[in-house]
Amino acid sequence: SSSMSSYYDQIVELHVGYKKVLVTGGAGFIGSHVAEHLLERGDDVVIVDEMNDYYDVRIKESNLSMLVEKFGDRVQVYRGNICDESFMLDVFEQTRPGWICHMAARAGVRPSIQDPYIYIQSNIVATTLLMELAHKFGVRNFVFASSSSVYGGSKSTFFSEEENVDNPVSPYAATKKACELLAYTYHHLYKLNVTGLRFFTVYGPRGRPDMAPFKFIDRVSRGMEIQKFGDGSSSRDYTYISDIVDGVVRSIDRHYPYQIFNLGKGNGTSLNEFISIVEKHTGKKAMIRQLPDQAGDVPYTTADVTKASILLGYNANVSFDDGIRKTVEWYRNARNEKFNKLLISPETQANGFGR
Ligand code: NAD
Repeated sequence: SSSMSSYYDQIVELHVGYKKVLVTGGAGFIGSHVAEHLLERGDDVVIVDEMNDYYDVRIKESNLSMLVEKFGDRVQVYRGNICDESFMLDVFEQTRPGWICHMAARAGVRPSIQDPYIYIQSNIVATTLLMELAHKFGVRNFVFASSSSVYGGSKSTFFSEEENVDNPVSPYAATKKACELLAYTYHHLYKLNVTGLRFFTVYGPRGRPDMAPFKFIDRVSRGMEIQKFGDGSSSRDYTYISDIVDGVVRSIDRHYPYQIFNLGKGNGTSLNEFISIVEKHTGKKAMIRQLPDQAGDVPYTTADVTKASILLGYNANVSFDDGIRKTVEWYRNARNEKFNKLLISPETQANGFGR
């Protein structure tokens, strides 16, 4: 299409070679995988994480010890709140990162309705502070996590970046949209290179226990009931963690002046398929509690990943079947080792497809 050709007009610098990257939220699910990948290829990583108890903090501690054991002093860890200005100034003065991969945030759609202020702080205020520091310290590229939840109020079900996203339907979604707006401002004012990534429901090893893929694997494995809303035909775009890491790292290496990308699988999986694939890999029959459709849930969501494939060379290639197989494998080993008590998904109303 004509709008597609304008993508090619963007100036981009591809930076290959050593980097020192500040990864915020590096103890969490996505951040710890990105940090691991960067360290594996030879970059140095500075992690800042407050280790909050949104879910069991021992999972985050275990992620950090894995990184420290594997990579020693090539990974530096700072524990603290990214909203804390003097703390963050110290981190920047001590480490002087050239790149920022900002993954820290309060995640989860429904909890943001209960406690919006903490989302404003940890998402909007913190991102502004980080961009301010990125500008002052001459950071070369700033990549941050947005979310597919920005599409919440949209009528469409196949989401491209050109879609209007002016109708966020939760405080969480509004904070992510606000970060995208502020990112544009920082690019405009200071020529900060900044890329926002709209992740679509990410799953895989070390995945968040509040989210459906983890919950279903955990509960079906233990013979516990899972909740099924509606007739199971609703579908979502689930993205395997290694595909997300690939997209994040490609964004770190490519310095775009200002871009927003969808990072998803690019096709949906229905709830019925989801359940049967979990049954296949756990070897257990799911005990299903049938519930009516949840008000406000979007029936079908799929990411249009054309833009990321053209501009980043992104290509999500792990099938849902393979991704769940690998996740179940990890889950089994983790349970057998240190996590027996730990890996129990919290008992809550919703399944947490939260993105
Ligand atoms: P996560 O909760 O596992 O990781 C976030 C980390 O950030 C946590 O370790 C937390 O302790 C830390 N953190 C939060 N607020 C902080 C603060 N104020 N100061 C310092 N550290 C803080 O979540 P995740 O799934 O790895 O998500 C990473 C990013 O991707 C988030 O920005 C999230 O909104 C976004 N995202 C995730 C998904 C998904 O499916 N997992 C989908 C869309 C967007």
